Amino acid sequence: MSLKILGSPSRYVQGKDALKELGGHLKKIGQSPLLVADDTVWPIVEGAIKEGFDAEGLEVARMSFSGHATRENVKAIEEKIKADGHDIVVAVGGGSVTDSVKAAGYDAGVRFCIVPTAASSDAPCSALSVIYTEEGEFLEYRFFPNNPDLVLIDTRVVANAPVRFLQAGIGDALATWPEARATNRGTANNMHGGRPSRTGVALAELCWDILWEYGLAAVDAVRANTVTPALEAVVEANTLLSGLGFESGGLAAAHAIHNGLTAAPSTHSLTHGQKVNIGTLTQLILEGAEPEEIENFIIFTTKLELPNTLTEIGLTEDDEEILRAVAEAACLPSDTMGSMWFEVTPDDVYEALRSIEQLSRRVRAENGLPEPTSFVD
Ligand SMILES: [Zn+2]
Repeated sequence: MSLKILGSPSRYVQGKDALKELGGHLKKIGQSPLLVADDTVWPIVEGAIKEGFDAEGLEVARMSFSGHATRENVKAIEEKIKADGHDIVVAVGGGSVTDSVKAAGYDAGVRFCIVPTAASSDAPCSALSVIYTEEGEFLEYRFFPNNPDLVLIDTRVVANAPVRFLQAGIGDALATWPEARATNRGTANNMHGGRPSRTGVALAELCWDILWEYGLAAVDAVRANTVTPALEAVVEANTLLSGLGFESGGLAAAHAIHNGLTAAPSTHSLTHGQKVNIGTLTQLILEGAEPEEIENFIIFTTKLELPNTLTEIGLTEDDEEILRAVAEAACLPSDTMGSMWFEVTPDDVYEALRSIEQLSRRVRAENGLPEPTSFVD
């Protein structure tokens, strides 16, 4: 019998104007932080971060970033850490900079901290990075012995970020419970290489419950650039609970199908959470979940403006070659399809994926929801 393993960041800080406290929290970890942020994010956060750093007598050292979490980006950050003798590296931004900084911090042997500027994915709290090619195709998972020392998220910044980031984060986080539930039902390990603990599974379910209760109101709040209790709840679900839930609960078909979808060029302009949403719906179909659960999921994610048809991700039911390639990639032994409690073949995934178009169109029509249009640029 495998052991149960649960991991988490050492400290999680969330709230309005939390950025001003970043310096104080970092000072407890090290003396010379390197901040990594892209040129869009940096002007938004610089003032608040500098205020806190000045109060602590910390120097603001920032490195620019662009592109995906690639081996080249990881290497460049690692070299900068070593060249300037930093003892902490801090990702400020979205999933790409987060994954790059975790890997670079580990490679350079320094502590790493994450400051998400949107609640757009489950990446910040975990002890792993997903590495992609320059083109954005999934390359590999990298696992580290420890989670970030600090995850700090300023909800005022989240409220001012584009609403599609929060929607994507909800899409990513909605996968957490179905995947942890599937892993727990079977015999596979979670992302820490141990069995899901009751705590890990319960956090995944709490994540799901919060999203169904507050998800739509949180989207409304960000549309109005306001911080409300509903937004605070969903930021916590997307960032902390989804992170702990996927890592300590387990990933299964939904994220494997996401990774498979990165093989389809039409999906490259979509967010992680948009692709994960297709994966979650497809997983529910593969499981033979109750029709009511599947239909409610389609209704809810349509209202959240998350894709649940092939049309929305730039594909059709006739793209057999691409859909079969996606299904093959999703079933690679290196991915997490094996977490399901029953055997899933590439043909099963192909058929389930192909089925979502007619199914979602019917459910949307029956519920007076709009017909799907493509999200692809
Ligand atoms: Zn994810």
